[in-house]
Amino acid sequence: MLESLRAGLLPLIVRTASMPKENTEGVDALQTLLDHILPGSTVSYTVVAELKVQLPAVDSIIGPEFQNSRYASSWESFVSLARRRIDLMDEMDTKASVVFKACDNMDCDTMGPKTNFKRCSNCREAYYCSVDCQKIDWGSGGHRKRCHSIRTHSLKNDLDAKNRAFMRRLLRADLVERRYEEALSLHDPGCLFFLRDTMRRDPSDILVTVLDYSANGYPRLHIEGLAQLRADDERGAVYWEEHIARAARSRGRMELHLMLVRDGPGSDRVHRRKRWLMFPQRSEHPSFHHALLQIFRHREETDETETVAQLMNSAVKLH
Ligand SMILES: [Zn+2]
Ligand SMILES: [Zn+2]
Repeated sequence: MLESLRAGLLPLIVRTASMPKENTEGVDALQTLLDHILPGSTVSYTVVAELKVQLPAVDSIIGPEFQNSRYASSWESFVSLARRRIDLMDEMDTKASVVFKACDNMDCDTMGPKTNFKRCSNCREAYYCSVDCQKIDWGSGGHRKRCHSIRTHSLKNDLDAKNRAFMRRLLRADLVERRYEEALSLHDPGCLFFLRDTMRRDPSDILVTVLDYSANGYPRLHIEGLAQLRADDERGAVYWEEHIARAARSRGRMELHLMLVRDGPGSDRVHRRKRWLMFPQRSEHPSFHHALLQIFRHREETDETETVAQLMNSAVKLH
């Protein structure tokens, strides 16, 4: 997508859409591009940075032909989504924005600005508040088993730190905004039944919140059991393994989130068109997922709906 944008994709869209109707027959690819492919690509920092440069320039070639074309409303929705993502990127790039980390020794609850932590010098992916915590995680935490493969894969990871940081920020922003929606969807008895069924089949399974950005750049959100899903590539699998092991040791304080994105940034045609990325989130208190699991594992079916409703109300109040 980045290459297409640099090669002048946006002016091309405007010009094509502005052509008299008979000439635009058979260009429904343009509709797909505007409704799905372009919005789906705004999860990438590099794409958003390029849009920030290009959108103001395209404004000057938008005339009445384009505004009256059948693509105008799709263009408008795309541009408004792009502007929101540009704002998010600008917020991330301001010096004042502080990145928070939690100590990767899961027996430790220390959280704070990233600058207070030291990184594992081998994989450069694990963060610790002290040498003692690093030692504990290396031994009983099991980082020793995974550190090498994380290093190998992070070296050839096609997502650089900036793209990953942007995705993490986007996910957080959308989770806060959409938590309410997630809560409401759990009131749906079908959804509750599905989750309960998943947990009964495999009581050791853990929950993930899935945010699917692949359709049109806006996340569709639901919760499901992780056992149903698989990392789609070797690179992803290494991180999944590490995050799942930590979640299991977190006493319910780590929640896993999966982003499903269309053709991840930097990836080429050889890769699949969709890709899963896992982002863990730590909190000081047992998480929303943990509370749900407690309900599914220990309560009688009859109180479930009511208990979930109470839980939802408190989850909604938290934000
Ligand atoms: Zn390491
Ligand atoms: Zn620590």
